[in-house]
Amino acid sequence: MVDFSLSTEQQQLREMAHDFAKNIIRPASAHHDHTGEFPLAIFEEAWNRGLVNTHIPEEYGGLGLGCFEGALIGEEHAWGCTGISTIIEANTLAEAPLIVGGTEAQKKKYLGRLIDAPLLAAYGVTEPGAGSDVASLRTRAVKKGDVYVLDGEKMWITNAGKANWFFVLAKTDPDAGHRGMTGFIVDGDSPGITLGRKEINMGQRASDTRGIKFEQVEVPAANRLGDEGQGWYLAMKAFDHTRPLVASGAVGLARAAYEHALDYAGTRRTFGQPLSAHQAIAFLIADMAKDIEAARLLVWKAAWTIDQGRRNTMYASMAKCFAADMAHRIASDAVQVFGGNGFNTEYPVEKLLRDSKIFQIYEGTSQIQRVIIARELFGARK
Ligand SMILES: Cc1cc2nc3c(=O)[nH]c(=O)nc-3n(C[C@H](O)[C@H](O)[C@H](O)COP(=O)(O)OP(=O)(O)OC[C@H]3O[C@@H](n4cnc5c(N)ncnc54)[C@H](O)[C@@H]3O)c2cc1C
Repeated sequence: MVDFSLSTEQQQLREMAHDFAKNIIRPASAHHDHTGEFPLAIFEEAWNRGLVNTHIPEEYGGLGLGCFEGALIGEEHAWGCTGISTIIEANTLAEAPLIVGGTEAQKKKYLGRLIDAPLLAAYGVTEPGAGSDVASLRTRAVKKGDVYVLDGEKMWITNAGKANWFFVLAKTDPDAGHRGMTGFIVDGDSPGITLGRKEINMGQRASDTRGIKFEQVEVPAANRLGDEGQGWYLAMKAFDHTRPLVASGAVGLARAAYEHALDYAGTRRTFGQPLSAHQAIAFLIADMAKDIEAARLLVWKAAWTIDQGRRNTMYASMAKCFAADMAHRIASDAVQVFGGNGFNTEYPVEKLLRDSKIFQIYEGTSQIQRVIIARELFGARK
């Protein structure tokens, strides 16, 4: 049976997240965009309300919510501001490899910390020379007794400036390609870690993105996730959980842009009529509403599939790619509906256009999502 209705609990979660987005996130959004100030108090309030780390299993003190519920919450937060929702989402991304491949002791320690206090974590995979091509990363982890010594550099790491701990992907066997990579949990205060400056990005300026240097950083062997050589699998498996959530963020942003465009088109008049009476504008807005619905359904399918314990890699990539491309187009069309006002910082849609671009880049670009979808399609035919 197909049923698109939400349970009472799911509706309540969505309302809770919407209330938080409307009353706390949105009013602060422009300030953090203009100043780049990290919205720590907002993150802490989200944590207090149980809207952060929602997928940490109950045995480690979390709510143990599914990816589907995470997507409902994520869409609302992103409707408020994606600079702020990305911070919350980056915690989920850092936790995912640990949930997928950590030992009981590792989960108790590092997931437990995030339950006990409003701390941030970060997912450190990308490097200055390795983004889409993860297998070419150069950070090295060399085993010396009961520690691994890490040397290397990461780039574009969300939450890096505030992270209590990092998931770090490094090469333990540099000649073995993606099979030579291993994942580690690295304490943020480990000697030998140097953080770069907060990057000034096109959008999502509330979010803290930095480079990180690792120089002779000693990581206890007990912090290795899984076996040596399993890091690639853990880092990629994490995306099956988080890409539907990133996609839900794109849906939230698109919904915000669409709502602004709808309101404006109903009130702004040209040639003696509201903009909405001009078919060219009405059709732009009709396309927005249609594509948001379609993207949300893909998000729900990708999230539902993994919650059923089934492999969702293709749907996760479809949702991420479709929602990201859709959000960027809708944000651009919303600017168009606003005309000159759309280009101005006094109106909300220029920020949405700037913020929307990153959805086509982080957690795998739109090109890489298509590479994955094609691989799944052609692989399935063999
Ligand atoms: C604000 C921000 C936050 C981020 N947060 C994180 C984070 O928390 N953790 C983390 O590890 N990383 C993070 N990233 C990194 C992000 O995931 C990468 O930037 C992204 O994967 C692309 O890698 P790249 O920048 O090296 O681009 P490249 O890999 O150099 O790609 C450049 C262009 O070429 C295209 N391209 C590359 N290879 C192919 C191919 N085979 N086929 C077709 N097209 C291709 C890409 O799609 C892209 O358009 C973040 C990035 C940004 C900007």
